[in-house]
Amino acid sequence: MRLAEVDGKALLRRHGIAVPRGVLVGVGESPPNATAGWPGFVLKAQLLEGGRGKHGLVRRFDSAAGFRDARRLILANLDDADTPLLLEEAVPIMREIFIAVRIDGTRQRLELLIAPQGGENVEQSAKLARIPIVGTPTPDAIFPAIVKLFSRETAARLSRYAARLPEIARQEDLELLEINPLALTQGGNLIACDAKIVRDEAADFRHDQDEFPTSRRLAERAVTALERSARDLGFQLVETVGDVVLVTSGAGLAMMMMDLLADHGLRAASFMDNLRGAPDETMTERLKIARALAERPNIKAIVFQTVIASRSLADRVDALVAWITAEPLPKPLFVGLAAGHAATRKMNVDAAIGRLQELGVAAFTDPVALVKAAAQAVK
Ligand code: GDP
Ligand code: MN
Repeated sequence: MRLAEVDGKALLRRHGIAVPRGVLVGVGESPPNATAGWPGFVLKAQLLEGGRGKHGLVRRFDSAAGFRDARRLILANLDDADTPLLLEEAVPIMREIFIAVRIDGTRQRLELLIAPQGGENVEQSAKLARIPIVGTPTPDAIFPAIVKLFSRETAARLSRYAARLPEIARQEDLELLEINPLALTQGGNLIACDAKIVRDEAADFRHDQDEFPTSRRLAERAVTALERSARDLGFQLVETVGDVVLVTSGAGLAMMMMDLLADHGLRAASFMDNLRGAPDETMTERLKIARALAERPNIKAIVFQTVIASRSLADRVDALVAWITAEPLPKPLFVGLAAGHAATRKMNVDAAIGRLQELGVAAFTDPVALVKAAAQAVK
């Protein structure tokens, strides 16, 4: 679950991390009087996407009277006028630093990332310290890794700051805790001016479900009608811009197939995954959604690829045949089948392919041959 900036900052504040003063201003609302005396202002659109600065969705102004103009300029760059805005006290930034704690997926542990030039163009900065985190790090363990990137004084201050972040990530079940920019002020204070925080959804049950209403609302709004039905049916669908409906199970296979399609000049219009990592049997439901997607005029073909190890291939082919014969498919179908030993007790792969071919469906054991056939048909 990705947190909107305003919720991410609330989380940080709860753990004693300094963030600017700020208030959420809803559609058509005026800022509360208490903000009038702030020395400067930043108005920021609350979206679950980054790059807001570059897209004109972050505006600075010096006096409270600048609010209406700033809001107008931001709304001009948004599709949705119902986007919440965060009004903050501007921080006088002397230096922008990038700092993040994330899960190093390969090593299955946390790591700290610190770059001396944060801000909007952080990707271009070559200097980045990557510090593996074991247990709770002490500032002394971090200092040597960053001392060359900063003055000794800043490095020491930053080491103390960074040492607190892994524990917050653990307590809050975060996959990512990124602060960019972390502002270093003239007075030597470190203030989190932006927060990109992602909580592991599998750990959602450990936390208050009513927390972070802005983030939940924004996430819900970004979900399409079909994505919502898929979730209700027990699997995850992400709609993408493409010309081929892709039906798979599991994220790894889906990504491989998306790449294969792209290699052959096709684009997948759908990405399917299991919900919460649990491989529920949802083939019938996936096919139902696939049919709805395939009705769309921009769709040219349906590519179905399955890889099964222990479930029954016969059952899966039954589901497929029932779907194909129920009513004519709106677009040509291409099927790929790979099955391990235990899956083929009732029906082997050759028999499955024969059964589909009887119905006039092109079926393959090799995913590359499958995609090639689909590409040929589309062209
Ligand atoms: P993002 O582009 O979506 O990551 O949005 P940010 O919250 O990072 O804002 C973009 C940029 O606006 C930052 O990199 C800063 O340069 C600037 N910015 C944001 N907040 C402040 C602030 O309080 N004071 C100053 N001086 N600049 C700010
Ligand atoms: Mn940022």
